[in-house]
Amino acid sequence: MFKTLDDIEINGSRVLVRGDLNVPMRDGKVSDATRIERLAPTLRELSDNGARVIVMSHFGRPKGKVVEAMSLRAVVAPLSEAVGGRQVSFADDCVGEVAKQAAAALKPGDLLLLENLRFHAGEEANDGEFAAELASLGEIYVNDAFSAVHRAHASTEAITRFLPAVAGRSLQAECAALSSALETPARPVMAIVGGAKVSTKLEVLGNLTPRVDQLVIAGAMANTFLQARGCQVGASLVEPALVDEAGSILERAGQVGCTINLPLDATVATAIESDIETREVGIDQVPDDCMILDIGPRTISQLTALLATCSTLLWNGPLGVFEAPPFDRGTVAIAGHAAALTEAGELMSLAGGGDTVAALRHAGVLDRLSYVSTAGGAFLEWLEGKSLPGLVALEPK
Ligand code: ADP
Ligand code: MG
Repeated sequence: MFKTLDDIEINGSRVLVRGDLNVPMRDGKVSDATRIERLAPTLRELSDNGARVIVMSHFGRPKGKVVEAMSLRAVVAPLSEAVGGRQVSFADDCVGEVAKQAAAALKPGDLLLLENLRFHAGEEANDGEFAAELASLGEIYVNDAFSAVHRAHASTEAITRFLPAVAGRSLQAECAALSSALETPARPVMAIVGGAKVSTKLEVLGNLTPRVDQLVIAGAMANTFLQARGCQVGASLVEPALVDEAGSILERAGQVGCTINLPLDATVATAIESDIETREVGIDQVPDDCMILDIGPRTISQLTALLATCSTLLWNGPLGVFEAPPFDRGTVAIAGHAAALTEAGELMSLAGGGDTVAALRHAGVLDRLSYVSTAGGAFLEWLEGKSLPGLVALEPK
């Protein structure tokens, strides 16, 4: 297990904080500040305790070159706002003289943001010399970017060879939420795995089946499983090459005491269009010219009842084409029930994934579940049971 901010003495130290300020932008402005807000508590705490705070992050994919459009300068103002209006200075480079002077000028409590780490090829190459240069700016290293821990990069891995390393508050909270959902969960545990493709979730399914009591497979990926069970799925999206694999996942789940729940019925249509005629059919009655685009009302009732008997929910992947109502109905309904059970103190609910976060926002439950991970790739790799290099690097050596 890693150390946290509770385990370090600050006393005016220079503290290098790896954040994730890779925020979505529109017309040069930050369009979603969630990641900035998640980093703010660690920065405020360090600043309040007299640290000289040096923040570093990647932004976009400049591939080792300076790309003006990917400058982190655009994040200075929103970052300053997120830390309660404290001033944030900016260094035009994350290493070299510019960075050294900016770091040296800091007084206790001051905050400095360094330019995009990925302007240097050494970052993604996990280069030791580049990491040593970064490390020379500070005395303590704090990683507060869970969304970057699946990558062994200079600022997440190599740097820990040079400085005492601890986890920031946001990383700490995310790890605590994840471990209470999968390592030491209150049982029974329900996992929902939805989304578009079985091929992208094979490892997730393989890791979850021995660990959860109820596994709900929905979204387009359920179609391949339905076919493995001998159902005709009409014109639905299927991955024919994975039908056999789906069959063996179903079989193995049975052997480890995991109940797999496939849809009982579906909302179908001939195209993904909002004003198209839709039908609700039993799962073995999908017309040849129709696609399964959402779970149907019987499945919603079944899952609602099942969820009420569970103590933990782990959710990745929308249950239907939520981007095109009315095919958002299943996702919105289950999200609402999960939120209500969570608020009643009956359920610990954890969800994550790029489209899943968008779907939960659409359903209006983003703040009503126990924890929503915005970590994307890192969250999925954690669900796959992989060891995450940025977390391993924080463990005492
Ligand atoms: P995440 O990004 O949360 O891991 P995925 O990328 O696996 O989720 O899947 C999200 C996509 O799956 C959404 O764009 C959604 O429209 C699609 N999807 C869900 N159900 C269906 C379905 N029945 N048919 C086609 N696409 C679907
Ligand atoms: Mg996705």
